[in-house]
Amino acid sequence: MANSVVWFKRDLRIDDHRPLVRAAARGPVIALYVHEPSLLHGAEFDPAHFRFIDDCLAALDARLRQRGIALTLRTGELPQVLDRLNRECPFDALWSHEETGNRLTFDRDLAVGRWCRTNGVAWTEIPQTGVVRRLKSRDGWARRWSQRMDEPLSEAPCRIAGPAGLDHGHRPGPRALGLPDSSRPDAQRGGEAQAQSTLASFLATRGVDYRRGMSSPVTAFEHCSRLSTHLAWGSISLRRVAQAAAARARDVRERRAAGEPIDARWATSLHSFQGRLRWHCHFMQKLEDEPRIEFENFSHACDGLRDAAPPLPGSDAAARLLAWQQGETGYPMVDACMHALARCGWINFRMRAMLVSFASYHLWLHWQHTAPFLARAFLDFEPGIHYSQFQMQSGTTGINTLRIYSPAKQVLDHDPDGVFIRAELPALARVPARFLAEPHTMPLSVQREAGCIVGKDYPMPVVDHATAFRAARERMASVRRRADARAEADVIQQRHGSRRSGLPPTARATAASGASGPARARVAAAAAAGQANLFDDAAGQDHLDEGNAP
Ligand SMILES: Cc1cc2nc3c(=O)[nH]c(=O)nc-3n(C[C@H](O)[C@H](O)[C@H](O)COP(=O)(O)OP(=O)(O)OC[C@H]3O[C@@H](n4cnc5c(N)ncnc54)[C@H](O)[C@@H]3O)c2cc1C
Repeated sequence: MANSVVWFKRDLRIDDHRPLVRAAARGPVIALYVHEPSLLHGAEFDPAHFRFIDDCLAALDARLRQRGIALTLRTGELPQVLDRLNRECPFDALWSHEETGNRLTFDRDLAVGRWCRTNGVAWTEIPQTGVVRRLKSRDGWARRWSQRMDEPLSEAPCRIAGPAGLDHGHRPGPRALGLPDSSRPDAQRGGEAQAQSTLASFLATRGVDYRRGMSSPVTAFEHCSRLSTHLAWGSISLRRVAQAAAARARDVRERRAAGEPIDARWATSLHSFQGRLRWHCHFMQKLEDEPRIEFENFSHACDGLRDAAPPLPGSDAAARLLAWQQGETGYPMVDACMHALARCGWINFRMRAMLVSFASYHLWLHWQHTAPFLARAFLDFEPGIHYSQFQMQSGTTGINTLRIYSPAKQVLDHDPDGVFIRAELPALARVPARFLAEPHTMPLSVQREAGCIVGKDYPMPVVDHATAFRAARERMASVRRRADARAEADVIQQRHGSRRSGLPPTARATAASGASGPARARVAAAAAAGQANLFDDAAGQDHLDEGNAP
């Protein structure tokens, strides 16, 4: 039997790896990973990604060797790498998982397809998530997702045969690939064992307070699952996680029914977690269906709203962008999150949404200029989730409720004692808690006492929240009021929207107009109380967004 190549990409594991199982059942296997310079030097790639991938490759190689073959490593562009490999060790089948990637990987896959056809190699791509290729309609999508997740897991074969005499190459260090070392010292480490133990500890203990703990950066590092990076690079399969969560939820139900003392928070936490596993694919499906959203607004009614041209060096926009990137906006929650990302490459959902909301609304920057920066900063960068979420948090989907966060309010709601902020921003370590949301309001005597002179030790706010908030709200509302924007929203909702809320398209568009009664009432109440910086349009985002689930 001729050789098969199993091409590992964002699926760096042997557990529940169908291409590996199918290829191994057929005959000798070349397990291939390719370091592609075009991706390594792309705008979204970070040396921390490389370090995580390299951890996974080391683990993958070790696990494959236990089964009889080594991982084959090559550096170069596909399909040239396949061409050389085919001359070195001929193969007639290529196996991989489907990938919902960015334009670079999409074009790369087209080239691989052409190469396979020219060279008589049969390429089989197998789904690994709930994303459906060539989807005709979103109707029934959630049911298909559940069916996919319920399919049997694939056990890795005990023995795998490989061709004799193949040079397997070696794992290059970052320098050999023209990359600097990772500058994120506390980033998660990769590998299947890490993924499995992260899942196990979440389901056994950490997840009990997931529902309540997910929103605050003080608690989220512990209580969120922290599986996103493993899912993004495939050191664990989504199906494995979904089945483990379902088993745990069953276990909790049965114990409760049997009268065992089990913490009641488990049921709601697991329910929320299982919903988010669906979101994973719900958002990726949007990019799969409409790849242009990597580069264009979902809603063309939003075109021209923000400047799509890159900020000119020396311009105000460039200065705002730099302040945001460097965590020097003068808004402690924004700055602390940026510092946390620089340190470890992860922050929770609510804080990600706030970072993007601040850049897109307060700083009025186009998401195209901020998305690649956070793609590099997020160790779990997953193009389908990233671009869909970026547009959602920037108000350019046309269908989602507008949510503009007040960074000062986030401090009061989620870090009132400054535990997270003080750890990430030592300049604010001795600032009294009541001034942490807005250090620039500290009297000079307090600044001196706290050893933090605003404007010297910590920046003045880069924009005034109240002014920026109102301007952004008005600009967005003026677009959403337009008849063409509402008509377009109906089309977008039909193609990409959740089928869960049960709202007909036009009702959703109205709900999403950004001028809902309760939101207006909240703003008016906060303004009347003189709390100019404490109103926002983002209350309860983590829970409200359940309505956006498929
Ligand atoms: C602007 C922005 C960009 C984002 N970019 C990414 C990204 O590149 N990669 C990424 O994995 N997530 C992204 N997210 C979604 C979310 O913030 C992360 O998935 C989550 O914080 C990861 O931590 P966790 O694994 O502990 O999540 P948990 O809360 O434990 O959730 C479990 C899993 O569910 C999925 N999930 C959770 N929340 C969401 C969500 N809102 N949308 C889609 N899937 C979700 C993820 O796969 C996650 O690992 C982004 C969110 C925003 C607002």
